[in-house]
Amino acid sequence: MPNTAILKRQAIETIDTHSRALIQLSETIHANPELAFQEQKSMALLCDALEKQGIQVQRGIGGLATAFRAEVCGKLTGPTIALLAEYDALPELGHACGHNIICAAAIGAEIALHGLMNELPGKVLIIGTPAEEGGSGKIHLLKQGAFDGLDATMLVHPSSRTMVTRGSLATVRLTLEFFGKAAHAAAAPEDGISALEALLAAFHNVNALRLHLKADARIHGIITHGGAAINIIPEYAAAKFSLRAASNSYLEEITQHVIQCAQAGAFATGAELKHTVDDGLADMIPNRAMGRAFADNWRALGIEVYEARPNERMGSTDHGDVSHSVPSLHPYIAIAPEGTGGHTAAFRQAAISAEGHLGMLNAAKGLAMTTIDLLCDDNLMQEVKSEFAATVRK
Ligand SMILES: [Zn+2]
Ligand SMILES: [Zn+2]
Repeated sequence: MPNTAILKRQAIETIDTHSRALIQLSETIHANPELAFQEQKSMALLCDALEKQGIQVQRGIGGLATAFRAEVCGKLTGPTIALLAEYDALPELGHACGHNIICAAAIGAEIALHGLMNELPGKVLIIGTPAEEGGSGKIHLLKQGAFDGLDATMLVHPSSRTMVTRGSLATVRLTLEFFGKAAHAAAAPEDGISALEALLAAFHNVNALRLHLKADARIHGIITHGGAAINIIPEYAAAKFSLRAASNSYLEEITQHVIQCAQAGAFATGAELKHTVDDGLADMIPNRAMGRAFADNWRALGIEVYEARPNERMGSTDHGDVSHSVPSLHPYIAIAPEGTGGHTAAFRQAAISAEGHLGMLNAAKGLAMTTIDLLCDDNLMQEVKSEFAATVRK
């Protein structure tokens, strides 16, 4: 087995040597926010940074023009590890989720490992995954086979708390449409069926349902169509709901309950219901064996790593679906004071602050060091696989 301590030290040195360029890359992407599937400039900057180091890049993969893939190979066979990069921004808010840090860190780690592949077995991929904030690029790439044959995937997301094994919520979006019958609201109300009243009943039923939900459930809806004119009984009304839960199975359960709430509204008023559930996002199942290795590496760099609290705030990510197919880890690195929420102006600022830059470099080091462990330590890789088989592929 290669001397991992020496290899890790070399990886850290390479990242430090490239720190200026990596920070500049992160800042440039931050200054040019691009929305889902339109990340042309960001993708070009990231691919150029890899090519500059002599790493061949495939631009546009799995039918997505702004996805990319590169690999560096060792001399001996071994595991294949993929570092994932996100680089999309939010409408109006720009890089308020700090994806500039995610992608710059992945590039830093890939470059550091590229320099060590003479001594490492296996392969290290970097996969550029567009549209995390809307569009679920990773799910598209997963369906296209971009994650086939991988042994592990990793991505470090910026946050206000450093944690390695926080999960994420499974989520789906539900559209409810009610079809009633228009009539003059004053002259002939008895001829009408109000689609709006059916919809309002559905909202009330959902609120009643909340009394009996587990703490991890989240249900919120908006009315997108409530009627055309005040003097016409609305013949059409529609709402969109976002549903989330800590596991796919509980999410399925509450989705069925919410549909029943809507059916009851339709039944009570005589309206007809059409419901549409989108594909959604699966919950993130962090691989704990990978998490232990990652936390040890960060602690060796002097970084404080916290355990996720039982009531830890969680969002959703398309990395969740990947974690159901390949052992995966989605650590968080603190770049802002604790409690600073993502998707805010304060977090956008933090993503290019001195703390943000340091977080990005530490993310790159953690990724490189843990990849070295996964490639060199057969026992660790075995543990990762057995855990995956026991917890995900039950
Ligand atoms: Zn986000
Ligand atoms: Zn994000």
